[in-house]
Amino acid sequence: MPEEPVDVVVLGAGIVGVSTAYAARARGMSVVLVDRREPGSETSYGNAGIISSSSVTPLNNPSLWKSLPKYLTNRHAALRWNPLWAMQNAGWVVRFLADTSSSRLKPRAAALRGLIGASAKLHREWIVQAGAGHRLRETGSLKAWRSDSVALAEQEQALLAEYGIASQLLDRQAISALEPDIVPVYKVGLLHSESASVDSPGAVVKAYAQMFAGAGGVIRQSEARALAPDGDGWRVSLSSGEISARHVAIALGPWSADLLRPLGYRVPLAVERGYHREFRPNPARSLRRPIYDVDGAFFMTPMERGIRVSSGVELTDRDAPSSFAQIEQVVPLAREVVEFGDAIGDVWRGARPTLPDSLPMIGPAPRHRGLWLAFGNQHIGFTTGPATGAAIAAMIAGAPPPFDAAAFAPDRYI
Ligand SMILES: Cc1cc2nc3c(=O)[nH]c(=O)nc-3n(C[C@H](O)[C@H](O)[C@H](O)COP(=O)(O)OP(=O)(O)OC[C@H]3O[C@@H](n4cnc5c(N)ncnc54)[C@H](O)[C@@H]3O)c2cc1C
Repeated sequence: MPEEPVDVVVLGAGIVGVSTAYAARARGMSVVLVDRREPGSETSYGNAGIISSSSVTPLNNPSLWKSLPKYLTNRHAALRWNPLWAMQNAGWVVRFLADTSSSRLKPRAAALRGLIGASAKLHREWIVQAGAGHRLRETGSLKAWRSDSVALAEQEQALLAEYGIASQLLDRQAISALEPDIVPVYKVGLLHSESASVDSPGAVVKAYAQMFAGAGGVIRQSEARALAPDGDGWRVSLSSGEISARHVAIALGPWSADLLRPLGYRVPLAVERGYHREFRPNPARSLRRPIYDVDGAFFMTPMERGIRVSSGVELTDRDAPSSFAQIEQVVPLAREVVEFGDAIGDVWRGARPTLPDSLPMIGPAPRHRGLWLAFGNQHIGFTTGPATGAAIAAMIAGAPPPFDAAAFAPDRYI
């Protein structure tokens, strides 16, 4: 006898897939969550752990043009790019740059504001429900300049205020009061006081996955190989067999375009790769919150195991061999700020999944009933995963999503 179809199969157990699965289960649907690895083992493991309320301005904004000359040299820690990749993906690059116009900034920032606000609220609820509340730090996140950049900090503060996001401008003394253990290298700081952070994003995703399983959801560790329409629903081929489902949600992060190609969808999904390395902490020199060093172009986040230093953007093929130039460039700069010990383990590499407008796809696939797309959450997927998942679950149920999702409709590209 063929098995009864489940209501929803969610492919991918990063923060987006786990959130989708949990939100659908919470609406009473039968849900199977599939990943070839354990939940939260890929991009959602290695990020900087920031639940960022302030990231409403996508990277492709008008100010990018000012930085472009220094990025073109391919030596800056903020951005490395592979010229061959850029030629082969010229269409993506042109669309990405076209969206830097000031007329395109406001609608995208407003859309991201709605998504981020709804998601931060869900994180704060779920992390407690999942028994991982001790991992959440409500100490904000600090953006800091070594150069005398008060004007830039003020400009950013004014922009955030337009979206009702609070921040505090800090001088050297105020920074020292907040972070007494760091060397006073920063002249100017902007405290994103509404942001929060966690001490292990991978562990938080695993806790959400356990919460999903505890609520009756099924987790299956298996490779998803193909999906095909089957009657009113879908047949999903896995390395360990097949599942029938009424709905399928694609939440495969940087791998999301692969399974959609055979269905006729050419998704313009690129990846912005990034690296991190963790170091043994010096107990007498701790960080209270993540710090973004603007001039050095890196994040430092206090994590469960030590200090995680994360690098900027590398534009190249998703699966190209690693290049450690950026992370090697920034670690000595991080050591100038706070004392820490030897490296723990190897360098980690991940890939931020990014569409040309830097907005995720959240919604139905345009030409297939019961196929839902939830990916492209770029630099802020750990922040925006919960509401992305909640929106997909709501849409499947025919209910309104918890924020205005119009700007995220997949049919803008496919
Ligand atoms: C260096 C760096 C720092 C970052 N810092 C932050 C931050 O501080 N705050 C923030 O909000 N965001 C941050 N991000 C972005 C964030 O990490 C990502 O946007 C987010 O993790 C994407 O989540 P996801 O669920 O879409 O993808 P993933 O977490 O990659 O999940 C996709 C899953 O799909 C699975 N998969 C793929 N193919 C298959 C298949 N065929 N079959 C079965 N399973 C499959 C993978 O195993 C994986 O588990 C950062 C990213 C990087 C790289």
